[in-house]
Amino acid sequence: MGVSKTIWSNPSEIIRVNKPDHPVLVFSPAMLQQTAVRFIRGFPGLVTYDVKSNPAEMVIENLAAAGLRGFDVAAPDEIDLIRRLAPNCALHYHNPVRGRAEIAHAVAAGVRAWSVDSRSELTKLVALVPYENCEISVRFKLADEAGNYNPTAKFGATQELAVDLLREVEAAGFRPSLTFQPGSQVTDPMVWDRFIRAAAAIAGQAGVRLYRLNVGGGFPNHRKAGPAPNLEAIFTTIGQATGEAFGESRPALVCEPGRGLVGDAFTHITRVKALRDGGDVFLNDGIYGGLAELPLVGNIERLAVYDPEGRKREGAPLPRMIFGPTCDPVDRLPGKLALPDDLAEEDFIVFHGMGAYSAVTNTHFSGFGKMEIVTALSLV
Ligand SMILES: *Cc1c(COP(=O)(O)O)cnc(C)c1O
Repeated sequence: MGVSKTIWSNPSEIIRVNKPDHPVLVFSPAMLQQTAVRFIRGFPGLVTYDVKSNPAEMVIENLAAAGLRGFDVAAPDEIDLIRRLAPNCALHYHNPVRGRAEIAHAVAAGVRAWSVDSRSELTKLVALVPYENCEISVRFKLADEAGNYNPTAKFGATQELAVDLLREVEAAGFRPSLTFQPGSQVTDPMVWDRFIRAAAAIAGQAGVRLYRLNVGGGFPNHRKAGPAPNLEAIFTTIGQATGEAFGESRPALVCEPGRGLVGDAFTHITRVKALRDGGDVFLNDGIYGGLAELPLVGNIERLAVYDPEGRKREGAPLPRMIFGPTCDPVDRLPGKLALPDDLAEEDFIVFHGMGAYSAVTNTHFSGFGKMEIVTALSLV
């Protein structure tokens, strides 16, 4: 008895044939591989994938098939996942804080690249990690760091501390590197420019020649109406700023995109449960499900509405409030979304660019959370 796997043409076909009442994430392997090749060709250094943004096995396998050779992991389970699916790829354990058992697990799995942002964590690594051929990247932050989803409240050494840590990493016999996290969904290349120049200043002050500079993730995916973000402009700025800031001592570059790599490879099909008295929309998914990120990063403007026969609604845009299915009052999308004015109960709202921080953060809160992942040739 053969196992048959359906590969759909596009979201409209899924809607017409299945009329799914639960949320469905539609994956395009072709789109993922195309974006991976764009990063590998365009980025002036090693591209690693930040596994936490979407650890689905089909994502890891398609990235490896497209030629990706490194993964940024945050926990032992992610280490085991990559060792199983992409055994020859580099693992960068760039969660700056780890427990002792987690460090031992990673050492046993052959992890050779780590990051720190504090003295106490560096002391732990120096005690527990063999230093031969191992790299420690000091993660720093900028005082004036802008960008949405600002990560500096949790991680990042001040530039002053980074100078000391970098010296200590080298003195302990490790390969000394620097890293930073510019934010997430960052569209302005100058954010990287500022960080890279700060990295050169830190290395100069420490008197340490960097083994590598890891410019983090934060690359944007296509969420706004209008053209897709210009990744190539960001790659160019990163290469130029590194050359200018470091000159002769230019380090090899690494990046660790999550969202920018996987975001546009998934489209999310949700259904309108009710139009309350013709006004507010109640969806079958919300902030405890696949739409968890929208209140943090902003609404997805790239969406389409289909009737249950898979035909696109073309009515004039009408802004509406969108609620998720749970009984929790915070379960709503920010602001209002412009939807066609002929929207009806049982229609489908299809959000594009939903590959990152969607399936992986889905919960079963309040009796919801059933989510299916299917594969399609095209996402439009
Ligand atoms: C989450 C994370 C990333 C990926 O961020 P994106 O905005 O999804 O690209 C990269 N590096 C580190 C250390 C992270 O924690």
